[in-house]
Amino acid sequence: MFLLFIKPEINTPAGLVARPVLTSYHKSSHFRDRPFNKFNVYTSPDETILCSDSRQSMYCQLLCGLVQRSEVLRVGAIFASAFLRAIKFLEDHWRQLCLNIRTGQLTDWITDPSCKNAVSLILSKPMPDLADLIERECIGISWEGIIRKLWPRTKYVEVIVTGSMAQYISTLEFYSGGLPLVSTMYASSECYFGINLKPLCKPCDVSYTLLPNMAYFEFITVIEDHDEKMQEKVHCNGKSEQKNGINEEEWIKSKIVDLVNVKVGHYYELVVTTYTGLYRYRVGDILMVTGFHNNAPQFRFVQRRNVVLSIDTDKTSEEDLLKAVTEAKLIIESLGLLLTEYTSYADTTSIPGHYVLFWELKKRENTEQLPELDLIVMEQCCYRVEESLDSVYRRCRRKDKSIGPLEIRVVKHGTFDALMDFCLSQGSSVNQYKTPRCISSQEAARVLDSRVVARFFSKKVPSWEPFRIEANKLMSDMHRAV
Ligand code: AMP
Repeated sequence: MFLLFIKPEINTPAGLVARPVLTSYHKSSHFRDRPFNKFNVYTSPDETILCSDSRQSMYCQLLCGLVQRSEVLRVGAIFASAFLRAIKFLEDHWRQLCLNIRTGQLTDWITDPSCKNAVSLILSKPMPDLADLIERECIGISWEGIIRKLWPRTKYVEVIVTGSMAQYISTLEFYSGGLPLVSTMYASSECYFGINLKPLCKPCDVSYTLLPNMAYFEFITVIEDHDEKMQEKVHCNGKSEQKNGINEEEWIKSKIVDLVNVKVGHYYELVVTTYTGLYRYRVGDILMVTGFHNNAPQFRFVQRRNVVLSIDTDKTSEEDLLKAVTEAKLIIESLGLLLTEYTSYADTTSIPGHYVLFWELKKRENTEQLPELDLIVMEQCCYRVEESLDSVYRRCRRKDKSIGPLEIRVVKHGTFDALMDFCLSQGSSVNQYKTPRCISSQEAARVLDSRVVARFFSKKVPSWEPFRIEANKLMSDMHRAV
């Protein structure tokens, strides 16, 4: 049961058809006329995948997945977020799905004719026993391990859980009852990059082996030093910016490394020249070399270059934020709560500015009711996030007082679906959607802010010690400032 979706095409002002790569692929004859392959038999009929109404597509794909549950050996979607969206959809619609299975009749809001036809071949007769069985599992107080219960022959969950998707691991583990989480590939709309040659390894150990014939790959060296990262950020945000008096092209030339020259343990930004005409295109991903397969380098995905929070000289990467949130959520997990989604933004409307985190929470039991939130516990969470952020952030908070107390805004159930809907309305694709870990658009912030149910601030100032290394950093900050 591998859930796949397409997105309607748009026309650019110049009249070109634009669509995400997966839509392109699924609509192409490569996919539609594919020869039989026993490793890629889907429970979803092509018509349900090719339906451009994502709600109808999701409903029909889940229905077909449930009806054919005894044949399902893997479940998944491209990204973890899409798969969890499907599980949420199932939580909201299982009663209706069971009714359809019981009666053998498809619900009347599925109006897409191709979907209706295709599903009717699978939902060909009333199946009351199957409906009873599914109902019994879904009505349970907790949905822990629901995937194993509904699809008992499933061997693994195939979803990408590296990079920004890593924050879904604990929620996936909760629903899957500990099934292996398998990230198979690293790819983008611009180019296919690599595959995971050890699919059953732990998510934190995943490395992708670059396929050297997919494009011409080059790498910009990224020095894993905070000050340097800061300069990279300044540079990366503005293409035509000058750095030390040289332009972007010269700067890239001075830092570029070929595929054969990357070194284990070093960090690089990926640059591709593709067959379809992108020339030295900066993908925006930072990778770390972990080893080689024959002569092909293997990389761990570190982060997207531009997803950061910064108020003063602090620079928090997506990875830093994930680590801090992972620490803080241990507090609420011990109280039976799950953090299902989060994002952030740097609120600079007040002086000093501060980090704002939006958290969507749920009880471990299967309920949409928002849990009661203890003020002290939530303040501890704010503090734990701050304590887990890097020393530059803590110095700004404690010594420079250039950053205000971190804030957590708890949002109501379904807020991140609304955020996704908003992003889709702005042109994102369902398949390739990833929750932004940092919000920059005001409209997106409004979507979240209008659903806030409680706000909490850090009451304690995080610790910071002027160790020698930190003093050095401070000096170099000062030199830069001068
Ligand atoms: P898109 O342009 O929507 O196709 O997204 C491509 C981007 O998704 C990549 O540049 C990465 O930032 C991210 N991505 C794709 N595959 C992975 C992966 N396996 N792990 C982490 N991030 C990924």
